[in-house]
Amino acid sequence: MQNMKLAEALQRTLTLRWSPVAVRLLRPGEQVPDGVVEPANRIRHCQSITAARRGNCMVIPPRKHACPDGAGIMGLITMSAKLRSGDLYLLFKKLPHIECARKMIASREEFAPGTYTATLVAPLEKAAFAPDVVIFTLLPEQAMWLCCAATYGSGERQVFHTSGYNSTCADLTVQVMKTQQMNISFGCYGARASSDVADAEVYLSIPYRQLPALIASLEKLAAKSIPEARRRLYMPPVIDSVARPGQESEERVEIIIDTARCNGCGLCAAFCPESVLETGETDGAEKARVIAGEKCCACYTCVGQCPRQAIQLKPARRDF
Ligand code: SF4
Ligand code: SF4
Repeated sequence: MQNMKLAEALQRTLTLRWSPVAVRLLRPGEQVPDGVVEPANRIRHCQSITAARRGNCMVIPPRKHACPDGAGIMGLITMSAKLRSGDLYLLFKKLPHIECARKMIASREEFAPGTYTATLVAPLEKAAFAPDVVIFTLLPEQAMWLCCAATYGSGERQVFHTSGYNSTCADLTVQVMKTQQMNISFGCYGARASSDVADAEVYLSIPYRQLPALIASLEKLAAKSIPEARRRLYMPPVIDSVARPGQESEERVEIIIDTARCNGCGLCAAFCPESVLETGETDGAEKARVIAGEKCCACYTCVGQCPRQAIQLKPARRDF
């Protein structure tokens, strides 16, 4: 039930296309939870993320893992000598020389063989288990809001660690479990070649324990910032005329303030980059007014900021 509420909040605030995927690595001796099934055939970890975001709840023991690299990285099996040494990366022409392969392998996070016995995946809303991490397949804009939400709660910058190799296993599962820090991955050869992740989509993984606090911050951002940004609040209507090589634009605008609507809050004046506006007493009440209209650069910030929709810009003269 808790997972369903978390998933609903994420869907509502971010308008996700895909369900976030709950991922748990099963510890030795741990029971397989009810409601998960083994896939009929071998499947890669990245493919199981795809299947889960499409609604499947699965347990994947080592014998059903199709990618020996991923299964080894997640501590389900002992990796073959050729994978461990980096030779296979050269054979598949994924890296130029053995030193490079060794360095890449040494710098990624892994679990020791036998640490875990299976992977569990399910769409978050259906997960009847406590995941270790939650993996999103999402657009960069949606990843940005999750990143903002993490900073909103802590003030800290988010630092991502990725290589373009071993995406869903190393960068999104093992690393996030070990560091307990959000991570982004752009996918890897295997994840892009063997699943339906769209070219415009990226992955982001969050430690499950941090999800409730992150969602609380996301709800705050969704009250104002997310819808404002999605409405392109500051987008001038004719942005193509902003830059013209070798000449200043002669476009001018007339700033029209509807004093009947204006409540004098001063947001427009506070945000105006050209000090075009101020608030002052007009007909016995505090209202916005124009004090340097000729300096207006038509950035539309005041139009976007005004909570009363009291400001309009009207083209005064066009040179196109
Ligand atoms: S459009 Fe920009 S420069 Fe012009 S008054 Fe509004 S905030 Fe100021
Ligand atoms: S932001 Fe709008 S309501 Fe507030 S002072 Fe400016 S014009 Fe008036």
